[in-house]
Amino acid sequence: MRRARLLVFNAALGPLDYRVPEHMAVEPGSIVIAPLGPRQVLGIVWEPDRLEAGDVPEHKLRPLLEVLPVPPLSAPLRRLIEWTADYYCASPAAVARMALGSTAALRGGGTTTEYRLTGEEPARLTPQRAAAMDALHGEQATIRELAEKAGVSEGVLRGMVGAGLLEPVTVDLDRPYPKANPSHAAPDLSADQQAAADAFVAAVREGGFQPFLLDGVTGSGKTECYFEAMAEALAQRRQVLILLPEIALTENFLRRFEARFGVAPVLWHSSLKSSERRRAWRAIVSGDAQVVVGARSALFMPYARLGLIVVDEAHEVSFKQDDGVRYNARDVAVIRAKFEGIPVVLASATPALESMQLAEAGVYRKIALPARFGGAELPAIEVVDLRIEQPERQHWLSPRLVKAMKDRLLKGEQSLLFLNRRGYAPLTLCRHCGHRFQCPNCTAWLVEHRLSRRLACHHCGHEVPVPEACPECATPECMVACGPGVERIADEVTERFPEARVALVTSDTLNTPAKINEFVEAAENKLIDVIVGTQLVTKGYHFPELTLVGVIDADLGLEGGDLRAGERTYQQIAQVAGRAGRGEKPGEVLIQTRHPTAPVIAALAAGDRDAFYSAETESRRDAGAPPFGRWAAIIVSSEDEAEAREAARAIGGVRPLLPDVAILGPAPAPMALLRGRYRYRLLINARRSAELQKAIRDWLGPLRFPQGVRIGIDIDPYSF
Ligand code: ADP
Ligand code: ZN
Repeated sequence: MRRARLLVFNAALGPLDYRVPEHMAVEPGSIVIAPLGPRQVLGIVWEPDRLEAGDVPEHKLRPLLEVLPVPPLSAPLRRLIEWTADYYCASPAAVARMALGSTAALRGGGTTTEYRLTGEEPARLTPQRAAAMDALHGEQATIRELAEKAGVSEGVLRGMVGAGLLEPVTVDLDRPYPKANPSHAAPDLSADQQAAADAFVAAVREGGFQPFLLDGVTGSGKTECYFEAMAEALAQRRQVLILLPEIALTENFLRRFEARFGVAPVLWHSSLKSSERRRAWRAIVSGDAQVVVGARSALFMPYARLGLIVVDEAHEVSFKQDDGVRYNARDVAVIRAKFEGIPVVLASATPALESMQLAEAGVYRKIALPARFGGAELPAIEVVDLRIEQPERQHWLSPRLVKAMKDRLLKGEQSLLFLNRRGYAPLTLCRHCGHRFQCPNCTAWLVEHRLSRRLACHHCGHEVPVPEACPECATPECMVACGPGVERIADEVTERFPEARVALVTSDTLNTPAKINEFVEAAENKLIDVIVGTQLVTKGYHFPELTLVGVIDADLGLEGGDLRAGERTYQQIAQVAGRAGRGEKPGEVLIQTRHPTAPVIAALAAGDRDAFYSAETESRRDAGAPPFGRWAAIIVSSEDEAEAREAARAIGGVRPLLPDVAILGPAPAPMALLRGRYRYRLLINARRSAELQKAIRDWLGPLRFPQGVRIGIDIDPYSF
């Protein structure tokens, strides 16, 4: 009798053993259906010696039901799943689930049905149908997806199908993607670019694991260098994965990609519709998808012949996933490349200190692009001390910044103002009784959004209309806004320069590819004078007429003093500063701050990146922080505050005594209430050499908690 050990897709269960029916062909990696109680579960066949399972006598084994018609997960991918689960203290099933990005696709390709408007325009429509007609213009998706998009029930849309307003369309899930041409429009590279490209191309040609850190200033042309490596991989019929932070997955990048390779890449991110997911997943598995451009979740896909991984903007926070499996895609990308035996390129203008240190230690090969492409100068940076250059009351633009903006307007050049805060004001209160609006689900104030006339929580999405009167003291129209958000800065610009054309760029205003395109075109065609934006504007864009960048509040990110506050502030300001002076005209950056001598600000002002890295290195060394020591966090949460507290105490009560490990807490987490759950936290600081994961597993393994309690383990937390 043949036995098979399965990783089943139910995180609460461990691996389980089954009997393999006589004529069924399975091997490690096969994706199968197995019985579990009265239900059926999906599972992956695993090597029995690599996963422990309970002992079940032979006669009790139930037979596997079916092998799905997709190739087995490869050995390197199975090793990656094991590694990730082990390193991040997650269940292997939860990691493996990410590899099966579209379970529907496992059943095969073929066709599916989507719906779109017929173009029929009846004279009279119910309000709901009219709203749906407006919202679904140019859309094609399943009824469920369209209903979500239009904000109406599926019933309304079914009625519209019946009335001939929506029509079915058959979508072929197996239609091939157009093929890229590796030598389409290859540009002439600068000498530095050529050296970088040569190194990558050689690595792709030789094969084998080789990690690179492509450390190039903003505008140095990093993209063109890794495009050359991709061209080589394509010529060898290998697949390429490019990981981008979710917010950089813009039309801008796609346009450049198309210009270079003649076709669009295959996209993989969280907002694909189901037919796109199924089609992309199947093409990734078959090898038909040549280049996949994706957010972090693209990392675990079962590529047929992966030949190169690129992580662009590798320092970005959004590569760190903060719920479910808490992993850092930048780090896992390097591990995947190692298991696959292929090169990996981490590209950044402001690499994380950890990456810099690995490059210095010779683990990564560092390739530097020290100058901007085409001889453009890096912008001149000036610090504006807000204690001296004071803005007027209830205003946030200093006289120095206003003067510089005026100068740009006169010359017909563009300015960009950066403030990483959505909405109109971060805090709203009643001027009569002082009532503040707080989110009922989170430890957070509600943020006023004037454009939508709502108060919103930026953590859980809770929203209410701005009330006419104070809910506490009933005084009408008593709300005062405290502090600025980008909407308020845009108002101030309009107040000062009524003739200026102002574009507000936040995830609230630019929430579709069409709107992003419209903005980029307007900016390129000089139909915008002043851009006011959040971090959404800090990366990727290349506007030659943009010559002034104003950082409204450089101190914002330094408050709260978390582990990476300095690094994050440095990266953000360096990135946004990098938008200035990319064309022929020189750029200028004004940084408004109340702490001009803070090491981060001083290093930015002096244009001295090394000074920043050495100051940061020293402070991390003192704190035992990465890369010198390691941190982990245990987050205990429950909808019941007492239950969460008790569970955290129980964990704290049996803390292990280990020589190289210090444990802090439990204490309420910084967001003590988040999305309706009360949170407590323990922090663990360990020497690099300590067996941190094993210590945590041994510690938590024997403990049992009530149903409503969730325990999250965060290894190498990004911030706390
Ligand atoms: P980075 O990603 O390093 O900030 P980009 O790759 O965005 O820099 O390049 C900056 C600008 O220079 C882009 O507009 C790009 O098209 C242009 N550029 C870079 N390299 C070349 C080249 N070899 N030939 C022509 N234009 C280039
Ligand atoms: Zn909330």
